[in-house]
Amino acid sequence: MLSRNKFRNNLLFFYTAIFVVVAILIITYQYNREKEYRISTLNDELYNITRIVDNYFLINNISESNNYRLLDSLYRLLPQENLRISIIDSTGRVLYDSSVQEYENMENHIRRPEIIESAISGYGTAVRKSGTTGQRYYYYAKSFPGYYIRAALVYDINVSNFMRANLRFLFMLLLFFLIVGVVLFIVTNKFGESVTRLKDFAISVTHNEPYRTDFPRNELGIIGSEILDIYNDLLAAKNELAIEKEKLSNHLNALNEGIAFFSPDKKINFNNDHFIQLMNMISGDLRIFSSSFFDIPEFSEIRDFIDRHSETGTIGREIPMTEYQISKDGRFFRVQCVIFNDSSFEVILSDVTKMSKNKLIKQQMTSNIAHELKTPVSSIKGYIETLLNDNEIDPKKKKYFLEKALAQTDRLTGLINDISVLNKIEEAGASFLPEKVKIRKVVKEVMDNFISAIESRQMSVEIDVDEKVAVKGNKSLILSVFQNLMENSINYAGDGTTVRILVYNEDKKFYHFSFSDNGVGIPQEHIGRVFERFYRVDSGRSRKSGGTGLGLAIVKNAVMLHRGEILVRNKTGGGTEFLFSLPRY
Ligand code: ADP
Repeated sequence: MLSRNKFRNNLLFFYTAIFVVVAILIITYQYNREKEYRISTLNDELYNITRIVDNYFLINNISESNNYRLLDSLYRLLPQENLRISIIDSTGRVLYDSSVQEYENMENHIRRPEIIESAISGYGTAVRKSGTTGQRYYYYAKSFPGYYIRAALVYDINVSNFMRANLRFLFMLLLFFLIVGVVLFIVTNKFGESVTRLKDFAISVTHNEPYRTDFPRNELGIIGSEILDIYNDLLAAKNELAIEKEKLSNHLNALNEGIAFFSPDKKINFNNDHFIQLMNMISGDLRIFSSSFFDIPEFSEIRDFIDRHSETGTIGREIPMTEYQISKDGRFFRVQCVIFNDSSFEVILSDVTKMSKNKLIKQQMTSNIAHELKTPVSSIKGYIETLLNDNEIDPKKKKYFLEKALAQTDRLTGLINDISVLNKIEEAGASFLPEKVKIRKVVKEVMDNFISAIESRQMSVEIDVDEKVAVKGNKSLILSVFQNLMENSINYAGDGTTVRILVYNEDKKFYHFSFSDNGVGIPQEHIGRVFERFYRVDSGRSRKSGGTGLGLAIVKNAVMLHRGEILVRNKTGGGTEFLFSLPRY
């Protein structure tokens, strides 16, 4: 409550202080005026007395008779109380003094200040204690030819007298201040509530808190509630803006690109996390800050671009943009910059390694396919030309050539099949419809397809996959995983070997498979590349066995399409082992 009325109390305190100061000033002024008035009245009065004494002096010819005692009778006639009259000759000798009997013996008065002054300017005054009577007098001395007449009155102008005289005036003043005080009290009380609420409001604003209150219905209250409405609107707008900003920043942070907004003087205003990561990768410095963006030589092109446009300006033209690529440590980055109308600009960094690599792989793939197709096509062409040109060809030879041509067309078919499977995987991406695929069934189908080859090579197959093992995926792709692995084991492991297919681990999301044989294995220097398209360890052997060099590429891509992982290793006892995972159904 005390603090609530603090404003009012302060106001009253100041008001009282002003009252006291004004009262002191007025009283001092009045006192001085009164003093001046009294002195001038006294001067007039005493001057008249000196004139009367002088007249009396001249009429009675006292200067001749030296009968100064005559003046006593005049003195008695004068109405003033406490009056003292002295006559001093021009040498300072006291000729008469109404208050002293033996005035002949009085000391010389020539050095009395009122006498000195009256010698100079006709009359002189002084307030002092009398050297003769010991009383305090107001002296008035007037110089006449040959002598001075001095009239003095006991000086009794004191403050208490004056105060008494001015009490009425002071009372009036106090009454006036009291009335003003009461009015002020009522007004401050009325406004105090508004001021207090405004103060509470200001405090909550500095603490960034929302504020709700009803202001009293007075002018200040109306201003207060208007301010409050504006503030609450502003706060709501600010909060909305913060939410939008948060959304935008989340969105920008979720982007694959690094993005940063710069002010016209090249200071960074915002950047997402990716921007810093890409800056680190491009600069090769892991401790770099976003503020050092323009210190990185790879971005000098952006600086030049900005500087060029800050000279020419951008207003009213098309939005200037630039884009270029950087390659660093085998990776490719795209740098883009857009300048806005207010000369601020944004920089977008993207890692385009995958895109660039895909482009490269596609180019290689096309030239590989052309190369792979050329061999069977030209040999088929050769056989047909021979048959066409030689009419008397031996039927046995003819059959041989036709069989060879047929084998080459089989090879072509296999190649085209593999390419189309790979294309299917690439096109499907993550959009294929997953189905329940039972692995035992798939393995069984693969066995059926290769049963004659398995038997002719005297190979055996051990399957340790439970009936219930089912994965979620595309059936034909999963079939081609097992098919290609089986085909490779048949082709490369060799006669009398054993193929083992088993689930060696399972977790919440995946089954982990092992597909192995105990054949020759893959030479260690090639093992890292066997998943590449058209990569063969021994191309002669691969071709002879009908291999296209795409089998393991299909396997890897199919597994990865199912979000699984795959690796290959040589077994310690000899042979090759493929470990891969496929998602559980
Ligand atoms: P290909 O059509 O030539 O079989 P793949 O991509 O299927 O092509 O295999 C790539 C190479 O890996 C083969 O040329 C072969 O040398 C080697 N390879 C694959 N599987 C085995 C295996 N089980 N044992 C030995 N070598 C293998």
